Amino acid sequence: MASVDIENLSKRYISKAGGDCLALDDLNLSIEKGEFFALLGPSGCGKSTLLHIIGGLNSADGKILINGQPVKGPGLNRGIVFQEYALFPWLTVVENVAFGLKMKGVAKRERLQTARECLALVGLSGFEERYPDQLSGGMKQRTAIARALAYDPEVLLMDEPFAALDAQTREILQGELLKIWEKTGKTIIFVTHSIEEAVFLAQRVAVITSRPGRIKKIVDIPLSTPRYEEEDIRSSAAFSEVRHELWKLLSEEVVNSGTLNGYGGSSKAVQAKGSEPLGEGLLLQAQTEGVEQQ
Ligand code: ADP
Repeated sequence: MASVDIENLSKRYISKAGGDCLALDDLNLSIEKGEFFALLGPSGCGKSTLLHIIGGLNSADGKILINGQPVKGPGLNRGIVFQEYALFPWLTVVENVAFGLKMKGVAKRERLQTARECLALVGLSGFEERYPDQLSGGMKQRTAIARALAYDPEVLLMDEPFAALDAQTREILQGELLKIWEKTGKTIIFVTHSIEEAVFLAQRVAVITSRPGRIKKIVDIPLSTPRYEEEDIRSSAAFSEVRHELWKLLSEEVVNSGTLNGYGGSSKAVQAKGSEPLGEGLLLQAQTEGVEQQ
């Protein structure tokens, strides 16, 4: 478990054409040890940028501290799960999960044992010897989660990991992720543009402003845990109330960000299966406006 502190973080992208784009502006945030924390914001507000900076994959001005230690690049104390599963097609499921441990110098027997334990944690026992193209989307994402857990990171960073899955699979994986979080006690930072997903999963949700991204408000989610045990918690009054509060905060930002122009967006901007309509036909559509397009 680890705390994550973000101090005065700004990120400016400079394009080859000479244009620039301020993605994050003087952002400050403290995430507690063992917390399940969601970053919610309109498309293009800088959520992925922030996650990648915490992961050490991207540089920025300002500071990221993990347990008080500054982040200087990628490290084994952080595991990342992306929307794309990024599995090696030529390796079996268990080899994919064990791969990071090989890089870490763990002996073969031990790394396969750890990989099997992590696969059991994500409900994939019995599928160890399959290849990625023999798996459903949900199973691929479970494998990607097992791979991130295998080297026992203190912080799990998740970038819209369920956005490409169908609605039913997504709900199942959300419940399973909460069980994994309970069992492992990891600090989880979860990026999403889905209000429902943020409410179901997180203890606190930070609403990010439209670009440049700043923290607009941090909302406590007052739902009891374990949420996956409560029948149809998404229909409860408490769920609807906090969902509405987030909807109001977010809809202002979606309007500000100018991403209300239909389904035909670019990049990860593709409408994820089952994305939430935002009120009167407004859609939290993921449109990433690159500098090149401005
Ligand atoms: P989100 O995850 O909230 O959709 P991103 O972090 O992907 O947002 O992007 C934030 C802003 O930064 C967007 O306007 C996007 O176009 C821009 N951006 C992201 N990556 C790059 C890059 N490599 N080069 C230039 N601009 C980028």
